Amino acid sequence: MIVPGVDEGRTKLQSLVEATQYAVAFTGAGISTECGVPDFRSPGSPWLKNPPIEFSDFLRDPLMREEAWRRKFVMDDLYAHAKPGRGHRALAQLIASGRMNAIITQNIDGLHQASGVPEPRVIELHGNGTYARCLSCERRYELADIRRDFEMTGAAPECACGGYVKSATISFGQSMPEMAMRRAEEETLACDLFVAIGSSLVVYPAAGFPLAAKRHGAALVIVNREATPLDDFADLVLRGDIGDFLEPFAA
Ligand code: NAD
Repeated sequence: MIVPGVDEGRTKLQSLVEATQYAVAFTGAGISTECGVPDFRSPGSPWLKNPPIEFSDFLRDPLMREEAWRRKFVMDDLYAHAKPGRGHRALAQLIASGRMNAIITQNIDGLHQASGVPEPRVIELHGNGTYARCLSCERRYELADIRRDFEMTGAAPECACGGYVKSATISFGQSMPEMAMRRAEEETLACDLFVAIGSSLVVYPAAGFPLAAKRHGAALVIVNREATPLDDFADLVLRGDIGDFLEPFAA
């Protein structure tokens, strides 16, 4: 059922939230746009002007590694001061109240954690862009240190072990993180309410979770300002601005 009106949408979502014993959220880039972090596919997207480097290219070519870091820092500057928005705050409240158990996110911006959601409740399917890791030994590196050296030398960072250091995100062509995928699947199958928020639901395997939840008996809600390929399977589709629909839960 598609509900375009904000008041009716809020009321219907409220009743589903009141009835749930175990809700799970699934978030995409749309939850962070009101915070100033652009989404991937909307017109004028700076991500499409600075497209992420494919993982195989990153591994193959030192020039590609340098270019990956150059684009990373261009994008970081666009949203360096982003703070959690109404959607993040609403989900943080639902987690704190015990109605929601976990947030599965495609986002890499760390804004769920910044809104106060405990780290173990956030399942990051595409990693985290607020730090970096060595691809060989997994040592963590902070971006400020990498950037200082990169701006001095122009060379892509390498680890003391000789491995390549990369933003801790999952690039196109890189394997999905096993533990996060397993936890996301467990949460998807355990919940009775699955709320997909701000995702175009076209990036797989992540977009498989809403459908799996529905098939396993959960109620499926989709909150997005444009249609998604899964709308026909949803029990409730809230078509409009995420913050407007979720704001009452942030109070
Ligand atoms: P997407 O860009 O494909 O889809 C975002 C959806 O959110 C779009 O359908 C758009 O219409 C909708 N939307 C945007 N702002 C909205 C708002 N205020 N209210 C309602 N709807 C809104 O994003 P995706 O599905 O998350 O996939 C893109 C991939 O790119 C992700 O896998 C992610 O890893 C990465 N990414 C992450 C971030 C981030 O961390 N914030 C930002 C851009 C891209």
